Amino acid sequence: MIVKSYSSLSEIQSGLTNGKVSCVELTQSYIKRIHENSHLNAFLEVFEISALEKAKLVDEKVKAKTAGKLAGMIIALKDNICYKGHKVSASSKILEGFESLYSATVVERLLAEDAVIIGRCNCDEFAMGSSNENSALGKVLNPLDTNRVPGGSSGGSTAAVAADLCLAALGTDTGGSIRQPASFCGVVGLKPTYGRVSRHGAIAYASSFDQIGPITKNVEDAALIMEVIAGKDNYDSTASSEPVPAYSNNFGSTKKYKIAYLKDCIESPGLNPEIKTRIHEITTTLTAGGHKIEVVDFPYLDYLVPTYYVLTTAEASSNLSRYAGVTYGYRSPNIANTPEGTASLESVYKKSRSEGFGTEVKRRIMLGTFVLSSGYYDAYYSKAQRVRRLLKDKTNEILTNYDFILLPTTPGTAFEFGHKSADPIAMYLEDIFTVQANITGLPAISLPLGKHSNGLPFGIQLVAKSFAESDLLSFSNHLMTSC
Ligand code: GLN
Repeated sequence: MIVKSYSSLSEIQSGLTNGKVSCVELTQSYIKRIHENSHLNAFLEVFEISALEKAKLVDEKVKAKTAGKLAGMIIALKDNICYKGHKVSASSKILEGFESLYSATVVERLLAEDAVIIGRCNCDEFAMGSSNENSALGKVLNPLDTNRVPGGSSGGSTAAVAADLCLAALGTDTGGSIRQPASFCGVVGLKPTYGRVSRHGAIAYASSFDQIGPITKNVEDAALIMEVIAGKDNYDSTASSEPVPAYSNNFGSTKKYKIAYLKDCIESPGLNPEIKTRIHEITTTLTAGGHKIEVVDFPYLDYLVPTYYVLTTAEASSNLSRYAGVTYGYRSPNIANTPEGTASLESVYKKSRSEGFGTEVKRRIMLGTFVLSSGYYDAYYSKAQRVRRLLKDKTNEILTNYDFILLPTTPGTAFEFGHKSADPIAMYLEDIFTVQANITGLPAISLPLGKHSNGLPFGIQLVAKSFAESDLLSFSNHLMTSC
């Protein structure tokens, strides 16, 4: 049976209720597409058995009219989100063969609402990167131009949605890893407010920045997923007890907003001129629609990336210390002996970590250890914490007067393989427009509103006030239809 391509959950759900398609057929057709597109390397594993079992159950529930809210949602997980009884590796050799002992809260919630989890997607190792070139399991190709990167670190998840290998995916965003690949692949990517979605069961990179969020083909599906995955969780004390609104019910609002756009971003010399032009076009359309758009100064752009890299590497050096070749994951077979002839514990650590981690992860662990070391703590870590506070205060100051900040997601479109991988600083500058939302903990979305003359898409980003996902999603939906 040939199953058509679906662009939204509501379209799938009407197909399910009209009996035009079953959830099993739908799942089978996505599995077939994943295999046909294996050259993209977007999926590390298809959860064929559990996905089809779940799909069968969903079909029974549809018949009995007891199906959950996400029935028909065929969703993939980034390979750093745990699903009990399934492998998870953060695309690292150090977690080779590791199987999750429990499911992430987001996974439990998706399953409880009858989503089908179809597989796990490739990413940069431990979510560190902007091109997916740092995966120990090979690069992911951008489905729109296979000579180019899909972005990172949620590159596999984003490529999978863009290539229609699943309807949606969950990614994680510590400094732009949902939004930047969404921009490069022409899909929607939302990073929720820090604390909006539980991080329980997400493999930690930098815990005060990490957030799980949806990657979808449209804003409505992002809203529906958020309604399910967001909210209080006893397993994550940073998950907020703020009630979760019915985000998708707020669509169609005709509210007029005040929007700031940052002069320093738009005039940043690294920004591709066509992206700048598109932002101007959007501001003109919005002004004509009765919204108020104003230019605002934010002379701190140069501090964003350094602050992000000092703090996240410090947190990563601590979070990744658990991968020691002892309790789980990779243990080197080349352990040296002590003079007494027994295996040396220090050698277990050194050899397992040296062989198990890739270059970028090692670079960040070393950098993080350095900024936390006693002689340099004040000069780097503690100073970066103070700058983080300043950046938070200055950004929140803007958001007391405006509903949203409008800015580019990325300085350019998807680049070619190898183009930036030899120069970490050039790669880190990819994050210039995305890290502000993570440093400040604010929600931000990338919308596929740009098309470059080189044929590639680019995203436009909106940052909102803390926990203002409802306005952010409804306005994003409006932008997608009006700009
Ligand atoms: N590109 C950024 C980095 O390399 C963002 C990563 C992320 O959000 N996980 O750290």
